[in-house]
Amino acid sequence: MTTSPHELDAADPLASFRDRFVIDDDLVAYLDGNSLGRLPRATLERLAVFVREEWGGRLIRGWADSWVDLPVTVGDELGAALLGAAAGQTVVADSTSVCIYKLLHAASGLRPGRDEIVIDATNFPTDRYLVDSVAAARGMTVRWLEPDLVENVTIEVLAAALGDRTAVVVLSHVDYRSGTLLDLPGLTAAVHAAGAVVIWDLCHSAGAVPIELDAAEVDFAVGCTYKYVNGGPGAPAYVYVARRHLAEAHQPITGWWSAADLFAMSDTYESSPTIRRMLSGTPPVAGLLAVQEGVRLIAEAGVEAVRTKSEALTAYAIELVDEIGLEIVTPRDPALRGSHVTVRHPDARAVADRLVERGVVPDFREPDLIRLGLSPLTTSFAEVSAAARILAEVVAPIG
Ligand SMILES: *Cc1c(COP(=O)(O)O)cnc(C)c1O
Repeated sequence: MTTSPHELDAADPLASFRDRFVIDDDLVAYLDGNSLGRLPRATLERLAVFVREEWGGRLIRGWADSWVDLPVTVGDELGAALLGAAAGQTVVADSTSVCIYKLLHAASGLRPGRDEIVIDATNFPTDRYLVDSVAAARGMTVRWLEPDLVENVTIEVLAAALGDRTAVVVLSHVDYRSGTLLDLPGLTAAVHAAGAVVIWDLCHSAGAVPIELDAAEVDFAVGCTYKYVNGGPGAPAYVYVARRHLAEAHQPITGWWSAADLFAMSDTYESSPTIRRMLSGTPPVAGLLAVQEGVRLIAEAGVEAVRTKSEALTAYAIELVDEIGLEIVTPRDPALRGSHVTVRHPDARAVADRLVERGVVPDFREPDLIRLGLSPLTTSFAEVSAAARILAEVVAPIG
């Protein structure tokens, strides 16, 4: 007999954070916060004030008032709250895809005598596509890891592919399908032992899993802000470059915002010596403000408390899915998983469609996976319980 979801919600120290979000949909359970997080009430207010008073009232003066520095100030705030990154190494910019492109070039440039980029075949499509195109552009070779989806990239799997040709390794901290959480410090150390540098994609971990980039001596990292950070659709991504690499990190989209003096309008380009060198063009101010509000909510809750709730939510979901008797492809050891639980079903698409019809929004991933995303600040145990009850009804006739 499982614990009642209402007892779990009553004992949840983060339960009140749900009220800090706009929840006026008609859903029984929103289990897709790992694709698009909910809207914080503070963001609704902040953007209304921004549009009316800052854009409407200050016009071009807004840049000098505060907007010019937002990519760096929001980056520092995000780095401190979510990434274990000291100031001056994180900047908010572009999309994750564009940031990966920039980092692949910057990272490859640090190892000119080496010609291989290592990435796993289980990685997110955009990461794989960009590795392919940057490798082709630079005359490099891609070395593909073929790990088991659930165990994912272990130190043994990675070590077998590393060598004196390895320039760069690209890894996702949490696998977007299985939810497997990789050993970021251990794998980073293995990459360094081979003389290479690593780019960590934090899209599915930041905001749900504690991260210590400085302590692990990570070289580069990237991530999006619209999943667990709740920055909203299309909110800008972030880039982390370790201070020790900053002077040598050359990204290819050298626009005026990455120049040493933004307003000098000089004849020739000279890179900013600071993390601003990772910028390119005019930043999306509304998106930056939304990211700031999302980061502040997580900082207020505390990343450790967020992780504790996340582990409890995923454990509860696994327990309920086990009772239904469905296959789970997410690691059962909480230390080895992020904040979503993935179910494998031969009719996954039909199951996902029927769940949506019944007010439960999961995520379908080709060909046979259903992801249940559990957002620590907004998902309640009651939601998980209701979703599991409906899942059991939905799979029964499908068999
Ligand atoms: C969500 C996600 C992305 C998204 O990239 P965009 O450029 O924001 O579309 C990239 N990588 C991973 C691992 C993701 O989970």
